[in-house]
Amino acid sequence: MSMKLYNTPDRKVVDFTPLNPGKVTMYCCGPTVYNYAHIGNLRAYLFEDVLRRTLEMEGFEVKHVMNVTDVGHLTGDGDDGEDKMIKGAREKGMSVWDIAKFFTESFFLDTSRLNVLRPTVVAPATQHISQMITLIQRLEANALTYQAGGNVYFNTAKFPDYGKMALLDRQEAPALSRVDADAGKKNPRDFVLWFTKSKFGDQAMTWESPWGLGYPGWHIECSAMGIHHLGERFDIHCGGIDHVPVHHTNEIAQSEGALGHKWVNYWLHNEFLLLSKEKMSKSSGEFLTLQVLVDRGYDPLDYRFFCFGAHYRSPLTFTWEALDAARNARKNLFDRVREWKAGPVLPPGSGSAPYLAAWKDALENDLSTPQALAALWGLVKDPLVVPGEKLGALEEMDRVLGLGLSALAPLPEETVPGAVAALVEARSQARKSKDWKRSDEIRDELKTLGWTVEDTGSGPVLKKL
Ligand code: AMP
Ligand code: ZN
Repeated sequence: MSMKLYNTPDRKVVDFTPLNPGKVTMYCCGPTVYNYAHIGNLRAYLFEDVLRRTLEMEGFEVKHVMNVTDVGHLTGDGDDGEDKMIKGAREKGMSVWDIAKFFTESFFLDTSRLNVLRPTVVAPATQHISQMITLIQRLEANALTYQAGGNVYFNTAKFPDYGKMALLDRQEAPALSRVDADAGKKNPRDFVLWFTKSKFGDQAMTWESPWGLGYPGWHIECSAMGIHHLGERFDIHCGGIDHVPVHHTNEIAQSEGALGHKWVNYWLHNEFLLLSKEKMSKSSGEFLTLQVLVDRGYDPLDYRFFCFGAHYRSPLTFTWEALDAARNARKNLFDRVREWKAGPVLPPGSGSAPYLAAWKDALENDLSTPQALAALWGLVKDPLVVPGEKLGALEEMDRVLGLGLSALAPLPEETVPGAVAALVEARSQARKSKDWKRSDEIRDELKTLGWTVEDTGSGPVLKKL
């Protein structure tokens, strides 16, 4: 089977064919660095990591570009609200430049703790202002802009395909509070390309431009940096589902309006992580960071494993109980791998082949991580596959799973792994209650883990097989 992905404009899973055989060009909307990333944001980067790793497993060479929004993103997507960078700087008592540096570093610390691969190119918006200005000039030359109140706007009425991907009704105004409504706009969905008359007197980041001293709108940055680093046509653009109606809609309008042709072939969107059925939002201030999880004793990889348990296009509700379950499963896997490492790693053979095939099929089918995990557990529990071969196959799976299995140290000989000790205890309980069937089942399970148990007068004695 070849790769199939859900393409938002098509509203269905379609075959993936890159523009250039063997190569994939992919742009992912990155963080706005005015605060820590919350675990909802991190779900988006984990999804993109699975996508990239799966493409690489398929043999593609992936050029992965991600922006860092270190200027000009307002708290509302539609030019409404407050400037996020200024808000963050004021709250932390730091300059906007220092805020951006601090939270960019903390973002990459979080993603590296989650084993998310660093993008091939990380593009800070503040280093691409000239590309944004050039793109706005192209839009101006194509009569797609107007100026009002000192700002430059994109004129959505002049772009007939506006909102096509999001299936927007062009007559229907977006929901904006009246306080935030911008009197300069001809149409409610028009958006700012370049601000000179800032609503915020204390705007600290400004640049010279043909329209005066000012700063770019948020949407133009992704168009300019995508075109600059990946070209006028590329394969995949990703982001959270919230980006469909405004940010990605505006990116398409700007890019295709300037270029005069289709820009990106596949648009992929992850569903939200929910907290008690509410969307987790950075600007509302109520969010959980990876560090909060670590402070509560979780390994960041517990969260990676937790996200793998749901398909990226399903909403996922975060609860501590669900994270506990992911932690136990992850620990169980690590215990078994460490224990098997007492022996040699063998190349995957016919015993593990069906599981590896099911793993690959699941990921090729629109990145179905839950089905892929089912294949992984099938392999782990199969008593007919020898431990060394399981290790070899798991290392193959770990190219996408990304848990760092090959770096795990073997368990010292004399140590009885937690999972084994728990099984011995469960077997003793079963014997006490004369549940011989269960006791025999547990003996078999212990065998698949490489241990035998003998009942002696002084209790069960464990031996390595
Ligand atoms: P931001 O830093 O707010 O621009 O968001 C970074 C990425 O996280 C974007 O792709 C968003 O669409 C995505 N995102 C934001 N909130 C959530 C959430 N609760 N669950 C999943 N993805 C999210
Ligand atoms: Zn973007």
